[in-house]
Amino acid sequence: MQFATRLQNVETSAIRELFKLLGKPGIISFAGGFPDPALFDAQGIAQASAAVLASNPGPVLQYGATEGFGPLREGIAGFMAGKGASVTPEGLIVTTGSQQALDLIGKTMISPGDKVIVEAPTFLATIQCFRLYGAQIIGAPIDADGVDVDKLEALIEEHRPKLVYLIPTFGNPSGATLSLERRKRILEIAARTQTLVVEDDPYGELYFDQAPPPSLLALSADVPGSRDWLAHCGSFSKILSPGLRVGWMIAPPELLAKATMCKQFSDAHTSNLTQAICAHYLTMDRLNDTLKVVRRTYAERAQVMAESLRRELGDAIDFNQPQGGMFFWARLTGDRGQLSDATEFAQRAIDKLVAFVPGAPFYAHDPDHHTLRLSFATADVAKIAEGIARLGQAL
Ligand code: PMP
Repeated sequence: MQFATRLQNVETSAIRELFKLLGKPGIISFAGGFPDPALFDAQGIAQASAAVLASNPGPVLQYGATEGFGPLREGIAGFMAGKGASVTPEGLIVTTGSQQALDLIGKTMISPGDKVIVEAPTFLATIQCFRLYGAQIIGAPIDADGVDVDKLEALIEEHRPKLVYLIPTFGNPSGATLSLERRKRILEIAARTQTLVVEDDPYGELYFDQAPPPSLLALSADVPGSRDWLAHCGSFSKILSPGLRVGWMIAPPELLAKATMCKQFSDAHTSNLTQAICAHYLTMDRLNDTLKVVRRTYAERAQVMAESLRRELGDAIDFNQPQGGMFFWARLTGDRGQLSDATEFAQRAIDKLVAFVPGAPFYAHDPDHHTLRLSFATADVAKIAEGIARLGQAL
């Protein structure tokens, strides 16, 4: 069959190929980016579902507005206000997961050959999605405090990209969080160079001890002109349930209008039923309690993962301990002649019945083959300790 030429720019993700091996009996997986299903508030979601179907069955089972279900747009505006970001219900659209928001940004902003700057490393699906629209993707280096702003600024000046895509808080895969000072500078650079910055923020609520710095969106109120150059993507996937497929996008009116038009031709609207469930859930006063449990559980798992890595792999591995989110980003040092190629390590690990993802696919170019990503979200503490011990044996 003769497929569209745009498909020549992308290949199936290396991660998907690896996931096929995860069905092996007894495997402990640190590979996926899945929240722990045991932490889903199924009872609360069941109550919300029953309530919306009992009180409002017609509209929630009917076609709806492309922009989103009214009460949910209000609920999300309220949720964002609680995080210090002022947005009206009309200033956001509901999307089918934040993944769709990223796709709509690609569709509305990227022409073949356009340049886009991302963090190196960044979320693989964003690289793939933007490539499908023909983007030439340029990676900006990061450290423990997020993207290196001096280098980012230089890359923006040099390449004049169509947009810059960042995961400022508890990055996937990096786990890194952009410092407050860097956040402010990025907003100043966006306003000065008139460059669209896309802030992808699915993990901001998953902090352990201390809330992260305010989002770029919240801070944009203090940096004149920056809000005109900022899009923000949010999601219920990591705080409530990814199966609901409900996310949102906040953007300047013109971009929001174009994205809404494209969404209309794509899926007409996000499921009214799951939107109504989310809207009702937000009114139930349960989210904070749910999040408290999620934060505590993930904090404990991250701590056990850090201790286990130090104990079992010692100086064979370098990592920054994240303060939230779902991921450790690590680098094999190759010290004392040990294995340093993460893909080979992943193969050996599978033989020992433990899985993680090698880091190379998360780079748009010039991958660091020594890197790897470990998720601490899905396995419990006993499995984490056992899995990391197996990694030690594999190495
Ligand atoms: N952005 C990032 C950084 C992610 O890690 C994910 C999910 N893994 C998404 C967006 C998409 O999430 P969803 O579509 O479920 O909201």
